[in-house]
Amino acid sequence: MSELRKDPVTGRWVIISTDRRKRPTDFRLESVQIAPDPTCPFCEGHEGMTPPEILAVRHNGSRPNQQGWDLRVVPNQFPVLRVEGTLDRQGEGLFDKMNGIGAHEVIIESPRHLEQLADMPDDAIERILWSVHDRMLDLQRDIRFRYIIAFKNHGTAAGASLDHSHSQIIALPIVPREVRDEVDGAKAHFQAKERCVFCDILRQETREGQRLIAENTDIVAVAPYAPRFPFETWLLPRRHESRFESSPRHEYGSLARMLGEILRRMNRTLGSPPYNLLIHTAPLVETAGEYYHWHVEIIPKLTKVAGFEWATGFYLNPTSPEEAAQVLRDARA
Ligand SMILES: [Zn+2]
Ligand SMILES: [Zn+2]
Ligand SMILES: [Zn+2]
Repeated sequence: MSELRKDPVTGRWVIISTDRRKRPTDFRLESVQIAPDPTCPFCEGHEGMTPPEILAVRHNGSRPNQQGWDLRVVPNQFPVLRVEGTLDRQGEGLFDKMNGIGAHEVIIESPRHLEQLADMPDDAIERILWSVHDRMLDLQRDIRFRYIIAFKNHGTAAGASLDHSHSQIIALPIVPREVRDEVDGAKAHFQAKERCVFCDILRQETREGQRLIAENTDIVAVAPYAPRFPFETWLLPRRHESRFESSPRHEYGSLARMLGEILRRMNRTLGSPPYNLLIHTAPLVETAGEYYHWHVEIIPKLTKVAGFEWATGFYLNPTSPEEAAQVLRDARA
């Protein structure tokens, strides 16, 4: 029997298709292979191939845009939105449009071409999280921006155009719909129950345990009750906080440890899959402090979105979150 399940945050329905049940070995796994690339613009020594850096973690005595760094943040060479100009909202009758104002930055996560996020030591992962924190604080001073999204595409199948480990930050003049749905759903839950829906999820999942993957002092990793994709994983801070960038110092260290651990568990069980990783934080222009709760979503790319999903907005997921959680829980970290 298949089962229809409703996500408690967004109200989105998914079909957990247990008749077509898939175990990790049933997916046509597409492992990410990183090949050396002498023309890679992100490698140490090629600093001149990127726009000048906005932020960098540098060794003592090294100069900006030269060698001797652990991490660099640079503007995207081919930005989807540009910082220059004034925001101009207009429309043509029924249709709304605005000019392409925004910011698009790249975090180069390592000076070494072959080093992948899952293999990095915890302090290197924490450094990346701090760079996201710093860029979010800086970008939100620009009043044209309403949302800042940080995300990572790992592997060509997940949309990465360069192999060298990197993440992206995009500041937007609007709140994107996926975030809008979460914020509105969380607000409705709060109005009805006077509690944060994500805090409720944490309470229930840590108590029941069947969708719990791992936990440390600050962070809990769960397979959500109604996942859109097989092995979809959420990392939630135990302490309620709506903004990623407002977290206390020690939570970045805990998140870094959990992130490395979950990615290694996925690599072991799913054969180093391509994946997307994103940080959902509260929009800039509204006080969602009481009801929104920042989190990280990791989605390994194991299936393709097909006609049914496009047509209905329903997701068809062949692996139950209980099974996914058990597989990841049993894997060595
Ligand atoms: Zn490289
Ligand atoms: Zn909460
Ligand atoms: Zn989310």
